[in-house]
Amino acid sequence: MFRIRRIYDDLLPIDRNAIAQVQDILREQFPLLPKEKVSNIPDQLRNPFRYRFRSILFVAEGIKARVKGFALLQHVPDLRFCYLDFISAASYRTGGGIGGALYQRVREEALSLDAVGVFFECLPDDSNLCKDPRILKQNAERLRFYERFGARPIVNTSYETPVKPGDECPPYLVFDNLGRTMSLDRDLARRIVRAILETHYGNLCTPEYIERVVGSFTDQPVRLREQRYTKGEQRSEVKSIPSVEKRIALVVSDVHSIHHVHERGYVESPVRIGAILKEIESTGLFERANIQHFSEKHIKEVHDGKFVEYLKRVCENVEPGESVYPYVFPIRNMARPPKELPIRAGYYCIDTFTPLNEKAYFAAKRAVDCALTAARKILEGYRLAYALVRPPGHHAERRAFGGFCYFNSAAIAAQFMSTYGKVAILDIDYHHGNGTYDIFRHRSDVLTLSIHGHPHFAYPYFSGFEDERGEGAGAGFNVNYPLPENLTGEQYRRSLARALRRIARYKANVFIVTLGLDTAKGDPTGTWSLAPKDFNINGRMIGSLRLPTLVVQEGGYRIRTLGTNARHFFLGLWEGMHRFPNPIGMKTGKNREQKRENVGSHKSSPSQIPGLPCAV
Ligand SMILES: [Zn+2]
Repeated sequence: MFRIRRIYDDLLPIDRNAIAQVQDILREQFPLLPKEKVSNIPDQLRNPFRYRFRSILFVAEGIKARVKGFALLQHVPDLRFCYLDFISAASYRTGGGIGGALYQRVREEALSLDAVGVFFECLPDDSNLCKDPRILKQNAERLRFYERFGARPIVNTSYETPVKPGDECPPYLVFDNLGRTMSLDRDLARRIVRAILETHYGNLCTPEYIERVVGSFTDQPVRLREQRYTKGEQRSEVKSIPSVEKRIALVVSDVHSIHHVHERGYVESPVRIGAILKEIESTGLFERANIQHFSEKHIKEVHDGKFVEYLKRVCENVEPGESVYPYVFPIRNMARPPKELPIRAGYYCIDTFTPLNEKAYFAAKRAVDCALTAARKILEGYRLAYALVRPPGHHAERRAFGGFCYFNSAAIAAQFMSTYGKVAILDIDYHHGNGTYDIFRHRSDVLTLSIHGHPHFAYPYFSGFEDERGEGAGAGFNVNYPLPENLTGEQYRRSLARALRRIARYKANVFIVTLGLDTAKGDPTGTWSLAPKDFNINGRMIGSLRLPTLVVQEGGYRIRTLGTNARHFFLGLWEGMHRFPNPIGMKTGKNREQKRENVGSHKSSPSQIPGLPCAV
């Protein structure tokens, strides 16, 4: 058993571990590869825009995240082609369908990138080019393997010209058109071949050599070799489906509706979840995950122990159907909490409209479980996860509830993930995330940012000001963007772009978005008027950070548009992460250098390299 997963970068331990195993395989299977070619892989993945060839790494993982094989694909957006640099199994095990599954995944990726096809080199199966019968046999097996997918060598060119006279086994350039009927244009092929030779062999081949090979592509269209090993049995068609790592792990609270405050005007109601769910599931991007149970210790790492115990006990003691509203706030004498549990509510609460009832604790605890489950999905390799929960959490402070919130699910997830690296939390609810700020304001390992209505006119009124920037070690690690009562989508995006640039500078390993949809037009708790298209653009901008991202649901109360806005947000988020590069104008060094590396070409020393790519 294995699963194929794309590795985007080395931000999380699971990915660092996979990359290290890939590097081990490379060193073992290709001992003559230059050291930098192997050690550069994390940098190539992390900074795809620095290189003309953008690297895409797939691993086939078995149990305990053991890497059984990998494929390193390169995408060249300006020429719209992919180049398969390596495909290899770990030495301890070959076969088992790993090579075929990896290659199929590569083809799907190339198709989704709208590439004209996949190019790669393969050692020749022609006895005029390769004398050693053992190597010849291996080469024939490889070419047979690829031919089954419709990939065949380009013929009638001098690509197979040895760089030095007498070099053995110069490779073919193989082309896979991904099962489509269109043929390869000669002029495009020339530009592609030039790019391949310059990038991969720039320091081995002379400019004259490159000119000669490029000029030898004269057929229009470029011709592929006739089928040699298969007769009409090619399985060349590719289905373009979102692969596992491109799906959004979705964790929906299954008990949220037990928390139902029936008072008129209590807008935080159970129908919110269904409204969102119905719309987002129609996108086909989401994959439901089962909720895992986590111990209360995770909550107590973020919230005051006495506060957690209080919530639990008071909820146990409220009569079914009753609600306890805080009405005494003993702020002048914190040392004397009222004895009576219902009266004590104000000792732990910031407002008068967030009631305690029989089920509040359970619903809030379940929301925390959902956020932690979604966080764990990120740590397991999903790039996006969404905890669709209520009650919300971002107003819950270390020792206080309020604003419809009891436990700060996102903060608890952030604490959980902070043991794996730096976390950035962006709060895009209409209201300031005072709870999240309160919890992390002394820390620099969790960056908190919030874009919200100015506290002069918006709840919670006492926090969310620009000059709250964190305290002590956390000074400078909170940024508030309080905005005016009326604003356009464009004005909003100016602050969003600033926030995203701050996150990019922070170099977070993990990103948490606390998603409030109460910034929308007509929301009963907000004053702004963001439209579905604004949510789409905002999502796209946020996705373009391309960080492992956990989204936790917070506010949003206009049922009629809640789902549509959520759907637009997630479509944008997904597109930003997977399709549209860099719309927020971060510096990437795109044009700074075009890497020229010696890849240990078998153009120079074919007999010493076991053959690239290596079919498994
Ligand atoms: Zn809100």
